[in-house]
Amino acid sequence: MTAWRIAVGGFALESVSFLPQETGLADFEREARRGTALIDGLAGSATVAGGFLEVLAQAGAEVVPLVYTDCSAAGPASDAAFEHYRDEIVDGIAEAGPLDGVLLFLHGAMTTPTRPDPEGDLLQALRDAVGFDLPVMVAFDLHANLSRRTAALCTALFGFHFSPHTDMAETGARAARCLLARLKGEADPRAALVKVPVVLPSIFTATGLAPLADLVADTLSLPQRVPGILDASLFCGFAYGDTPDLGFTLAVVADGNFALAKAEAERLARRVWFLREALLHEELVAGLDDGLATAKRIAAQERRPVVVLEHADRLNDSTYALRRFIEEAGELAVHCPYLWDPETAAAAVAAGAGARLRVSLGGKSSARAGGPITAEAEVLWAGDKVFTGTGPMRQGRRIDLGPSALLRVGGVTVSVISVSTSAIDLDALTQFGIDFAAQDIVLLRSKTHFRAVYEPLAAAIVIVDTPDWGPADLTRLPYRLAPSGLFPLDRAAEWRDPSTDNGADRAKAG
Ligand SMILES: [Zn+2]
Repeated sequence: MTAWRIAVGGFALESVSFLPQETGLADFEREARRGTALIDGLAGSATVAGGFLEVLAQAGAEVVPLVYTDCSAAGPASDAAFEHYRDEIVDGIAEAGPLDGVLLFLHGAMTTPTRPDPEGDLLQALRDAVGFDLPVMVAFDLHANLSRRTAALCTALFGFHFSPHTDMAETGARAARCLLARLKGEADPRAALVKVPVVLPSIFTATGLAPLADLVADTLSLPQRVPGILDASLFCGFAYGDTPDLGFTLAVVADGNFALAKAEAERLARRVWFLREALLHEELVAGLDDGLATAKRIAAQERRPVVVLEHADRLNDSTYALRRFIEEAGELAVHCPYLWDPETAAAAVAAGAGARLRVSLGGKSSARAGGPITAEAEVLWAGDKVFTGTGPMRQGRRIDLGPSALLRVGGVTVSVISVSTSAIDLDALTQFGIDFAAQDIVLLRSKTHFRAVYEPLAAAIVIVDTPDWGPADLTRLPYRLAPSGLFPLDRAAEWRDPSTDNGADRAKAG
């Protein structure tokens, strides 16, 4: 049997275009793996690479490791960081010697200060270097704002089916299996892409919510139901990325039949358009006053904790809800995990456990973050926090939060961290000795990923909308590049039937 030589890499970031903080080389390097660290460190993990590697190992393929780094969601990538990893991936592939194929994970919603479509730029550089004969299968996040150009540069593309993203490894496996089928001559994957002028705040991209759940079920069952379909993905887009490609995308891969792929992508796209009002669950979001009152009322009645979701916070340091809880918590046990504030974390580490100090807590990431809370805090614990993740999305991943502390401020316990990340599983609490079940209210800042763990445990999830950079009301955002006629920014938007749209035909010639 031939041992296929397959290059494996990843470069992922979900960019909130409006944030002033760029995500630089040091941020990506903190997460980067290369060589045997990529292969040994990510094999068996819940990452896209974990899926790539599992399928390649089963096939006896030789893995050529490039670089793999995933910074989750943050501000735009710096141009220098983008160019660094673009060159490392493209040069790595060009210089690897004979390759049979490439497997990449790119998020699809990265932006840089000068590039609205960095993934397209990276793939263009790759095709410029190696041509179009080399099969390049790319896995993207469900929140990708995909461009037609990007799709045209991939041999085939694959997206997560679920948010929370519990199927990252499975998505990598889908891409790898499709590559192997192509190499064995068992399939001739042709990908079609159709865009729909609809975008949802991330909070409503939870794929357990109807009718999105029905659309996802329709999408992921396509290969079983329609002969000739190899794979199908529904990308919800990322509302906080300001790009001309903002919005939903349907991508379908068919065996040797572009017209079939396109017809099915169009059918799904029409369903998204038809359901657009129902996909926008504005009824699930409360203002801060109403939301906190509701949370306290439920907490007083229920034994299980209530999760309050300050979802508009994109950097984990908004202070709108926390300030109110510190002022008004009373007898309630309120916990706020993972507040990003390196300054306060450093001060707490310097002071040490047991100390009391004056803090200026959180709210510093931008003028929209709510401003710092000035208060006296008791340091319950302080030190460096590094551990291996156990949650469904971070299983096996090394989590380094830097200097960190557990503080008591008024009646509220707050864990303060130096590397911004969202609390999406119980590690965020247990790593600081906090018992979820003993709380009345837990204040989270996740969008959908928390649901995999917290939804079954919480008495209720109360979503509050605050003025930070990720609001449910998208009209608050100063878009510059987003296309016109996008629902719900334009409630009267109309959509041209995709069957008249030939843009996707460029995706695959012949
Ligand atoms: Zn995502």
